[in-house]
Amino acid sequence: MKENPDTELVIPTNQSAIELMTASTEQPSQNPHKPKPPVQPGNVPSPAQEKMLGAPALSQPNSVKKSAGRRKKSIPAGLWTKCSECGSVIFNKDLIDNLNVCPKCDYHFIIGAQERLRQVLDEKSFTEIARSLKSKDPLGFHGVKSYLDKLSQDQKKTGLEEACLVGHGTLNSVKVALGVTDSRFIMGSMGSVVGEKITRLIEYAIEKKLPLIIVSGSGGGARMYEGALSLMQMAKTSAALARLDRAGLPFISVLTNPTMGGVMASFAALGDVIIAEPKALIGFAGPRVIEQTIRQKLPKDFQTSEFLLEHGLIDMVVERQDLKSLLARLLKYLS
Ligand SMILES: [Zn+2]
Repeated sequence: MKENPDTELVIPTNQSAIELMTASTEQPSQNPHKPKPPVQPGNVPSPAQEKMLGAPALSQPNSVKKSAGRRKKSIPAGLWTKCSECGSVIFNKDLIDNLNVCPKCDYHFIIGAQERLRQVLDEKSFTEIARSLKSKDPLGFHGVKSYLDKLSQDQKKTGLEEACLVGHGTLNSVKVALGVTDSRFIMGSMGSVVGEKITRLIEYAIEKKLPLIIVSGSGGGARMYEGALSLMQMAKTSAALARLDRAGLPFISVLTNPTMGGVMASFAALGDVIIAEPKALIGFAGPRVIEQTIRQKLPKDFQTSEFLLEHGLIDMVVERQDLKSLLARLLKYLS
C-alpha cells in the first residue's frame, strides 16, 4: 500500500457526500503483507486481536468502486475514519476532538505514545529521559525483513526511536514519572531498549521520589527479534519495581488495547493500581493459542478489560476521557 496517496476513486454521480470519503493512508497494523514476528505466545495477533488492533485509518467502503464510465474525483486522503467496531464513518476532526474514541459505539482507537502524553500530562510539561538508547541487532535476525530494516521502517512510521517514551512531567500540577509503550512500533514489544528505558524510568522515580505511571500498549510482549535478551527485560523491570515498592512509591499501571505477552507478564501487571481502557485486549498468550492448547472454546469476552475486572485481575475500567482526572485523584490518594 502506498503512503499518503491522494486516492483517485471513481464515484457514481449520484453518490452522497459521505460516500465521497477517501480510502485512506497506509493501515500499518492491518497490512496483510506486514512481516510478522516468529510464533510466540502473545507475539502473533489472532484474527480477534487483529480486529481489535484496528488503527484509526480508513478502509474503502464497498459502495465506492472503480468501474468504467463513471465520473472521476480526486479526494484528499485522511479526512474520514471508519470505526472498525461499528462501521460508522467519522470525520477525523470529530474523532480527534473525542480523544480518538468512536462517538457512536465508544470504541477506543489505538493512539500513539506522543498523543497519549498530550492527553494525560499538562501541556508541554513532558521531558524525555534515556532518549539516546538505540536498539542493536544482537542475533542478526532475518525474517521477511531484517530486524534493523523493521526498526527503521517503524521509526519512520511513528516518529519514535523505539516502542516507548519515558520521562517526567506534571499531571494536574503533580510531578510524575511516566512511560508509554506504543503498539504501532513492532507491536509495542519489549526488547533490550524498551526494557532499559522502563527500568531507567523506575530508577528515576525512585531517585526523585516520584509516583510512577506506565501506560502500556504492547501487543507484541517480549520482542522475539532479540530472543532471550528480551525475556531478561521482564525480570529486570520487575526487580526495579520491587525497589520502587520498597521505597514506598506508588505505581499506577494503565493497560490499553492491546497489552499482551511478556509486557503483561512483567511490569504491566505489577501496578499498585491497575486500570484498563474499555474493551482492551489484555492477556498473555493470544486466545487462538489458548484454544488450540486446551481444546476448549473460550468465553466470548475472554481477555477483555471487562472480563478481567470481573475476575479480579484489574481494579477498574476507565473511559479515555476520564483517565487524566482519575489518575489525578489516585495520585492524591496514594501520595
Ligand atoms: Zn464505532
